[in-house]
Amino acid sequence: MVSNGLDLHASLKKYFGFSQFKGLQEGVIKNIIQGNNTFVIMPTGGGKSLCYQLPALMQEGTAIVVSPLIALMKNQVDALRGVSSNNGVAHVLNSSLTKNEVKQVKQDITDGVTKLLYVAPESLTKDEYVDFLQSVKISFVAVDEAHCISEWGHDFRPEYREIAELRGLKPKLQFLALTASATEEVKNDIIDQLGLLDYDVYQQSFHRENLAYQVQYTEDKHNSLLDFIANHPGTGIVYVRNRRKTVEWSRYLLNQRISADYYHAGLTSEIRNDKQDKWTRGQTRVIVATNAFGMGIDKPDVRWVVHLGLPDSLESYYQEAGRAGRDGKPSVCQFFYNDNDIVQARSQWNESYPSLKEVNRIYENLCNYFSLAFHTGQDARFDFDMADFCEKFENRAVTTYASLRILEKLGYLRLSSGILRPSKLKIEVSSTALYDFQLRVPSLDPIIKVVLRSYSGVYDHFAIIKESEIARRLNRSVASVIKDLETLQHQQVLTYQKRSDKPYITFIQPRVNEVRDKDGLVRADKLRTQQRLEALINYMESELCRAILICTYFGEEGVSECQKCDVCAINNKHQSSNSFEQITALIIPILAERSLKPAELVDALPNYDAGEVRNVIRWLLDDNKIQIKDNGEIEKRN
Ligand code: ADP
Ligand code: MG
Repeated sequence: MVSNGLDLHASLKKYFGFSQFKGLQEGVIKNIIQGNNTFVIMPTGGGKSLCYQLPALMQEGTAIVVSPLIALMKNQVDALRGVSSNNGVAHVLNSSLTKNEVKQVKQDITDGVTKLLYVAPESLTKDEYVDFLQSVKISFVAVDEAHCISEWGHDFRPEYREIAELRGLKPKLQFLALTASATEEVKNDIIDQLGLLDYDVYQQSFHRENLAYQVQYTEDKHNSLLDFIANHPGTGIVYVRNRRKTVEWSRYLLNQRISADYYHAGLTSEIRNDKQDKWTRGQTRVIVATNAFGMGIDKPDVRWVVHLGLPDSLESYYQEAGRAGRDGKPSVCQFFYNDNDIVQARSQWNESYPSLKEVNRIYENLCNYFSLAFHTGQDARFDFDMADFCEKFENRAVTTYASLRILEKLGYLRLSSGILRPSKLKIEVSSTALYDFQLRVPSLDPIIKVVLRSYSGVYDHFAIIKESEIARRLNRSVASVIKDLETLQHQQVLTYQKRSDKPYITFIQPRVNEVRDKDGLVRADKLRTQQRLEALINYMESELCRAILICTYFGEEGVSECQKCDVCAINNKHQSSNSFEQITALIIPILAERSLKPAELVDALPNYDAGEVRNVIRWLLDDNKIQIKDNGEIEKRN
């Protein structure tokens, strides 16, 4: 009925104003309309949203769209309401809705008005929705950012596992999974987790022609970054490895008069939104961030992404670097590193897998700590003070933490999220303002003093704190400390993130004589993470075209050299060093006379290949022989 090409194009034009499909969109959409399960792999910016939006708008019933981020869903819903005359065409269903709003959503769906219903994965299985969803017509279920379902992906979200339960509601439900990145391993995992028996895969090349991948060894990241930013106009992202570094690097850039801000997951969502907003609107030029900055950012004109530290894997790197150039214009993905980064990454990996002997020792310490006799303790739950435990048995926190994770993985015990997410605190006012406050409210003076004395750097970033420790130093109860911290938060003196729950450990099995890795789970996990790390290091150190390396990692063959990355540039330079020198010899005197736009410079050398001239311009820029002025013209550097 609706699946013929003409109708598709007419609808594309009608709803989105586009006259052509992008990449594999048309095939994907036809396949969905024919009722088949579909797996879509397209790079960032490839136009995945339209793959579910258009068929949803064209078909009867409501499409359920599962997406990890509320902000992302809201943007899409707003945009969809813009293309339809009816506001009910798209809705978000989440826990922030009032009873009346939920009623309206349900009414619109029952009336057949709602074509797309965006749902957070954890809401899908709520009793209040289950019955309802069972009773209405669902056209298909789209799982956006489907790699979140896989532990082996770069952004695992346990809530995603609940999606498959929808099948229990409606066994014939049609699924569409979409992701920008999936190794064979992740791809198979997604298919397993969603329980897809038959499905069609639509996979677009991972190669993104507008991106120039560059890797540069440097012992001086400060100067390298400054140089890079000076030579690369436009807005960008700098990725660093931890929260403290986001603050330090953005301060460094600000001191160098470069508009910058920092972003990490320890900030309140209000502050994060504000920072992201300013950057998206162009008020901030550079955002320095941890990997928490990412999904849901669809700023089209990011001209460059710099990495100052190693991401978790090549897959994460591809995702993070891929935030550059969504608009298809030339953009640079720069990676600065040195030996120390690699040594550190390897040792961090190693430390997160203590030997089984070590794990057994910690297990024994733990059982003794809780006075647990052999063969007892199943389902027993104990409050757990990590610092006290480490001190008592003289164990390092890193090893202890890693061993606990392994014991959890092997099914011996379960850690509460309070162990994984401890309480944190950050002062939000200047030291002068804080001092004034202490004078004004003397009753809170002692606790402020203890906080400042115990945790350095709380002005700049979140410090992990222990309420019990503060209480001990003040000789007061933990409850009264928590109350004071909450008061201080209320007075906007500080931000206090109380840990999500108490840190405790639940024993799932009775105490055993020896902890074993029978199925080789830990061994397999260790190997897998090692392979992932080594693939990344190989990317950095290899002398093959970077784009080819990335595509090969994702199992894609037959990609030709990108001619844009640093490796290709060096290879080309060797091949054409003759004409390279000739062109350089011509360009420099021209620019000594007057500055020119890149295109004008290319035109000024009609006897040479335009691509080659552009390459020379890039090399000269990188070499700081020439530079780009604010008006876009190139000038010679002195
Ligand atoms: P992805 O989710 O794959 O990263 P998006 O769905 O966010 O990509 O789309 C990226 C951009 O491409 C958006 O700005 C979107 O409007 C645009 N786009 C999608 N389909 C088309 C099309 N057929 N023609 C032109 N632009 C399109
Ligand atoms: Mg998307």
